Amino acid sequence: MRIRGAVLREFNKGYSIEELELDPPKQGEALVRYAFAGYCHSDLSNTTGYTPMGMPLVAGHEASGVVMEIGPGVTRVKPGDHVASAWMCPCGDCPECRSGRGSICSGSMPHFRNGTLLDGTTRIRDLKGNPIRHGNFVSGFSDYTVVPEGALIPVDKTIPLDQAALMSCCVPTGWGTVTKLANVQPGDRVAVWGLGGVGQNALRAAKVRGAYPLIAVDLEEARREKAMKLGADYFIDSSKEDPVPIIHELTGGGADFAFEVSGDPGAMVQCWWALRSGGKIMSIGIMGEHEASPMPFTYLPLQQKSIIGGLYGGISTRDDIPKYVDLALSGVMMLDTIIEGHFALDDINDIRAKMQRRELSGRWVCKFD
Ligand SMILES: [Zn+2]
Ligand SMILES: [Zn+2]
Repeated sequence: MRIRGAVLREFNKGYSIEELELDPPKQGEALVRYAFAGYCHSDLSNTTGYTPMGMPLVAGHEASGVVMEIGPGVTRVKPGDHVASAWMCPCGDCPECRSGRGSICSGSMPHFRNGTLLDGTTRIRDLKGNPIRHGNFVSGFSDYTVVPEGALIPVDKTIPLDQAALMSCCVPTGWGTVTKLANVQPGDRVAVWGLGGVGQNALRAAKVRGAYPLIAVDLEEARREKAMKLGADYFIDSSKEDPVPIIHELTGGGADFAFEVSGDPGAMVQCWWALRSGGKIMSIGIMGEHEASPMPFTYLPLQQKSIIGGLYGGISTRDDIPKYVDLALSGVMMLDTIIEGHFALDDINDIRAKMQRRELSGRWVCKFD
């Protein structure tokens, strides 16, 4: 069938909006009509090569929609289901999946990076017949696509589909890291670096967990108002002030947890120095492969500090995403505050440019007609 998608063909050239050909779903796959797809900072990093993906590629890894058709053997979703398309697609059979750690599945990771579905091929072609890759199983910036069943999570039909899209990336990453991997307790002193979609969800989750004081750190003063609305006790504009001494002052000696969500090597160093003894850096933002952060590891044992990486919040996609949907419906996640606006697929390069200039203060979500 003929579809429309935003294709990434070269670094730093943005997306080309193209008519494409989509093959029907094969074994274990479903055809989905997308309703919304969020624009995540990782999408920007893919376009610049900071975190490169194989190309050409229909990008987008945070999407929601309706199942239209299922391929042979599909049992977990059926036509008409509302679904979030998760970029983590646990294979169920690798050592990590078998030990209950599907969020770091090694079985599907080669396909995740290669932009192929689980059989190593793609369902998308351009009009010259060349294969086009799927962005992290999701290929969210297309009106229709084919997704492996294991990546599709049915969601309650009462949740608005723009909020359901956020269940694919920024909600599980933010909430899972705070509640599962860090297990923040009431009264823990918490600072969050980088207030994009993931950072805002981490901030909100830490607030709900009772963190105090809860400190938001960002380079953009424009994000202060939203950070305070989501529950921050303090906001530090790190383009103007060094957050480290301020955090030591506000916390009486350093943070218990520093969530590094920006993927910036310098922010990582600030997190390190902002910790108290026994403190933990939760590293969620994806740093470029060739970046490094200079940190004096003498304090790793001497102050018993830790650096903990988190992928997909350490969650079980099938068990936890439906719980997050219920939480969102209760209003406690404040996703209507985190979502800043909708855009049309044809305007995706404009959104990309605004994110690159750091002009966005919340999640922008592509809306399909
Ligand atoms: Zn993302
Ligand atoms: Zn696996």
